[in-house]
Amino acid sequence: MRHFNRLRLILISLMGLLGIALAFLPFVMQMTEAAVDRTSRHDMAWNGINGRSEYQELRHVLMTYALNPTTDGQQAAELAYEIFVSRLNTWRAGVFGAFVEASPARRAIVGWIAESIHKIEADIAHLDDDRALTRILAELDRIDADVEQLARDSYTTNTEEIAANTIVLRKLQIVQQSLIIGLIGSGFVLVVLLLLQNRLLGRAHNAEKVISAENAFLAAHDILTGLPNRNSLHTALAKACRIFDAGRPPAVLIIDLDGFKPINDVLGHKAGDQLLVSVAKRLEKVVDQSSGNLACRFGGDEFVVLLQGAGSVDAVLATAHTLLQVLREPHRVDQHKVSIDATIGIAFRDQPNIDPNELIHRADIALYAAKAKGKGMILVFEPEMATGIEARQKLEADLAEADPWAEFEPHYQPLVDITSGEILGVEALARWNHPTRGMVLPGEFIPAAESSGRIVEIGRIMIEKACRDAMRFPKPIAVSVNLSTVQMIRMDVPALVADVLAKTKLPPSRLKLEITESVMIHDAKGTRALVGKLQTMGVTVSLDDFGTGYSSLSYLRRFGFDELKIDRSFVGDLDHDRQSMAIVQTIIALARNLDIKVIAEGIETEEQAKMVVAAGCAHGQGYLFGRPLPFDKVLNVLGSMPIARAA
Ligand code: C2E
Ligand code: MG
Ligand code: MG
Repeated sequence: MRHFNRLRLILISLMGLLGIALAFLPFVMQMTEAAVDRTSRHDMAWNGINGRSEYQELRHVLMTYALNPTTDGQQAAELAYEIFVSRLNTWRAGVFGAFVEASPARRAIVGWIAESIHKIEADIAHLDDDRALTRILAELDRIDADVEQLARDSYTTNTEEIAANTIVLRKLQIVQQSLIIGLIGSGFVLVVLLLLQNRLLGRAHNAEKVISAENAFLAAHDILTGLPNRNSLHTALAKACRIFDAGRPPAVLIIDLDGFKPINDVLGHKAGDQLLVSVAKRLEKVVDQSSGNLACRFGGDEFVVLLQGAGSVDAVLATAHTLLQVLREPHRVDQHKVSIDATIGIAFRDQPNIDPNELIHRADIALYAAKAKGKGMILVFEPEMATGIEARQKLEADLAEADPWAEFEPHYQPLVDITSGEILGVEALARWNHPTRGMVLPGEFIPAAESSGRIVEIGRIMIEKACRDAMRFPKPIAVSVNLSTVQMIRMDVPALVADVLAKTKLPPSRLKLEITESVMIHDAKGTRALVGKLQTMGVTVSLDDFGTGYSSLSYLRRFGFDELKIDRSFVGDLDHDRQSMAIVQTIIALARNLDIKVIAEGIETEEQAKMVVAAGCAHGQGYLFGRPLPFDKVLNVLGSMPIARAA
């Protein structure tokens, strides 16, 4: 642009100069013409010299008459006199007149000549009179030198003028030539500059094209991930909803990343951004955009996939599962390996009256319902879900109003030695005694408490109440309390634990903290330090729900957990899924090698208990051994159960 402006300035200046030169040229030419004209004019010298000749002719005719007076001589003298008189008139007019007037001496000379000529006017007609002839010749003698002088003068002046004009002409010629050369040169430069400008204009035009293409891209795409944005989605949805095909309705999948916020909080926004980019790339790989399908970023950690002519519910569910699978593969983010889960809500445009907004709304409701069920869920919209959402919104509002100390309390579920039936300890599980709804389970309120941040307060109350209750247990067994990722990020857990232990006087060895596999585990340093601090205090740290989500066996050693709890989903599958048995066996064998205790969660049947034991795990927890109970009721159970030595 700067080049362009400079060039434009040069062009304007050059054209201005050209204009001046062109305007000046006619003036120079006119001057030249005038000078040429002046140079070629010899009339002044000619006038003077001719006058002298005519004067001499007059004298000659008179002298001839004096020697031989004839009538012809008389006539010739009169004619010569007339000629000289008319010459005298030309000497007083025009260019010669001006030449005469320019000098007082010349004016006097012409005056004298005219005077003498006038004097002889009467005598010229009477030449036969000797006295008249003598007077005439005497008068002519008087002006002889004057005529000679004037003729010479006119000649000299004329010659000088011509010489001066020739110099002027030469100068004008140089100016004219310079102007012409300048004009030709400027014309050439002008052409070059115009070509250059044309090229610059071409370039500017191309650049403009690129910029407008970029602007169009930015208007339709998300800057961070490069995926199509909300606008593009709305356009694509509007197109998809133009015709209704009941056999192949379009489907919208809203994908919400689980645990994205903690990654952002723990690893920083840069890492968060990198993770979003990585997620976007994977979505693009799965979604075949060439067939009109679209993967777009909806905002924050929400992505939307539009499947045109999606086909059966099963086919869409299969795509959703593939998406989850692909997203669950660890992502490389800022030297960290980060795993993330996602929840998906799906809606089909299975009725013609569903417009694009309604379709997204439905998928959103399905997502909300899926989230309420837990992370990693996929749900297809059903009309009843809308009421579920209202209930969840009500729950969130109630949670904000709740008095946590009064309304939240732990229920206790025994952890047992499966073979002996002896009690090892209890796990404190939070229960919300809702003023109108009665008891609400953690699966329902923990996600809401985590997203609102109320979990920090609830978690603190849980640790304090659990430790206080444990001091009143009939047996000195351990109590396990669950820790939320949000608590780990937002509060100083070791300080809280130290404070509670000091307040309740519970020996640290009787407190276990259960950390669910989560993004925290990827924050290697932070998690290792937290586990280490708690262990130094004498508190046991367990890795909860092992096998779900993103845990890998290497975490066990890296983070130094004392204990791991095999997730109940494996235990539930043990009696009908061989793979689950293999996984459980592998986990147990490895944990034993690492000297880590293992507890199997969710044992409901004798069969499962047997299989867990057969797989090498002696400790378990589940409805088979006891459901979570409030403090006063668990006291009876504890009183009746033998205490295990291992506890
Ligand atoms: P968790 O820590 O894995 O707790 C075990 C869950 O499995 C409990 O569900 C328990 O009632 C259930 N359970 C135990 N045995 C069986 C069984 O045989 N079959 C089946 N189907 N379920 C069984 P609950 O109490 O609903 O808690 C759910 C989850 O909520 C807990 O899973 C834990 O992650 C979280 N949670 C509970 N209390 C707290 C808390 O105070 N703080 C935090 N941050 N999370 C909590
Ligand atoms: Mg637990
Ligand atoms: Mg668990």
